[in-house]
Amino acid sequence: MSKESEKLHIAVVGGGLVGALNACYLAKRGFEVHVYDLREDIRQLEHVPGRSINLAMSVRGSTALRGVGLEDAIVRDHGIPMESRMIHRPDGSTYAIPYGKKGQCIYSVGRRFLNEALINAAEQYPNVHFHFHHKLVSANLSKGQLTFENLTSKETQETKTDLILGCDGAYSTVRKQMMKMPMFNYSQTYIPTVYMELCIPPDEKGNFKMPENHLHIWPRGQFMMIALPNQDKSWTVTLFMPQEIFDSLDTPSKLIDFFEIHYRDTIPLIGKEKLVKDFFATKPSPMISVKCSPYHVGSTCVIMGDASHAIVPFYGQGMNAGLEDCFIFNQLLDKHDNDLGKVLPEFSQFRNPDAEAICDLAMYNYIEMRDLVNHLSFRLRKKLDDGLHWLLPKRWVPLYTSVTFSRMRYHHCIQNKKWQDEVVSNAVRTIGGLGILAATYCLYTSWMPLKEVLKDYESLLGNMVGPV
Ligand code: FAD
Repeated sequence: MSKESEKLHIAVVGGGLVGALNACYLAKRGFEVHVYDLREDIRQLEHVPGRSINLAMSVRGSTALRGVGLEDAIVRDHGIPMESRMIHRPDGSTYAIPYGKKGQCIYSVGRRFLNEALINAAEQYPNVHFHFHHKLVSANLSKGQLTFENLTSKETQETKTDLILGCDGAYSTVRKQMMKMPMFNYSQTYIPTVYMELCIPPDEKGNFKMPENHLHIWPRGQFMMIALPNQDKSWTVTLFMPQEIFDSLDTPSKLIDFFEIHYRDTIPLIGKEKLVKDFFATKPSPMISVKCSPYHVGSTCVIMGDASHAIVPFYGQGMNAGLEDCFIFNQLLDKHDNDLGKVLPEFSQFRNPDAEAICDLAMYNYIEMRDLVNHLSFRLRKKLDDGLHWLLPKRWVPLYTSVTFSRMRYHHCIQNKKWQDEVVSNAVRTIGGLGILAATYCLYTSWMPLKEVLKDYESLLGNMVGPV
């Protein structure tokens, strides 16, 4: 279907971060866009239930926002720059590990602010229509038919559309419909770690209680805590631990003792009473990683964001990858002149290796964040990578830099890291080999005079003892 032939009607299921950004991109193309979300309009709510109050935004996310003219208003004007990881040791002392070169940073952005800004921006287009409190209950994806339940009136509503865009998150109903179809691959993994959000409030003068331009990390081997700054000068603190440890902290004194050992410096920051109150008022949430393929059904349905690749949050890339999906989808619509029959399969084929790569990288980074940052070898390798990146900025791009500060395809980031590991281990082997050669040479050269001495010694002995 070409741009000229028809004005496409698109149903976006899910008005979260990815759904709302997609609405902006598609409206800009002149399509008729209907966005359905099971939540009420979050702009009318005092409290929005859900996860992660703030998010780390990096280059992929901000590039996607730039595509609809929102980067400055959201990232530059609202985001809080974080230039390094600030590592907290159990004794409360700290050290910083910069993210990249001077001036490179990621931004802490409020989830609610971001979602509202995207909904507001989408609503500026007369061809975008939001339907809140509408839950997708079933669909015929190859016919473009959807059935919603209006959660206010309890009525059922049917609709038919040219394209269904499933942006309904990690537990996607659109994806569940795709799973009923042949040749659809799906796997999910719950990691044994769960998380809970706590809060460090601002001080009595309304200021941040910790230096704000950092992502603070308390790595403790099998578990960890992180904190990201908020606009109101508070910190969202996220505690990641195995469920058994959460379960074992079943009294206020056990909780405080645990914090005294592992997170002592945070007790005065959070406040003992608040820590106990918030901890026992909240239930930890699970984390799921989802891989599936393909992402499309014919020319009538495609899934994006967490619906197609839910990832654990340790690379700070879930939302970034989801927003990048919108950017790439828009590029493919340009490339194929809105021909969905070509765009959808290419989107699946192009995006799948990258989505699976970032799923794997996020799993790996959990180990790095909670444990490896404590190891000297990790810090030495980081120094080597940073040094080589400084010397050869285009040739040697460290893994974290390629994922966070570039738009290198995620699976190329992994290939690049494998190549770097090979170069480093070959160099170590060569240096080791040269070292052995040098040591052999030294031994040999010091052996020659010794040999002369021994010769003299032998003849001396010979003279003394005489032939036997
Ligand atoms: P969602 O944000 O989940 O939105 C889905 C929408 O679909 C919701 O509005 C929901 O109401 C709606 N919906 C669901 N089902 C239906 C239905 N049946 N009918 C109608 N509507 C429906 N990412 C980063 O990039 N950086 C970070 O720092 C980061 N930190 C994170 C921290 C934590 C603890 C977690 C859990 C995640 C984090 N992420 C981060 C990941 C990020 O939150 C997600 O990748 C992102 O929210 C995905 O956006 P989405 O729009 O695809 O899905």
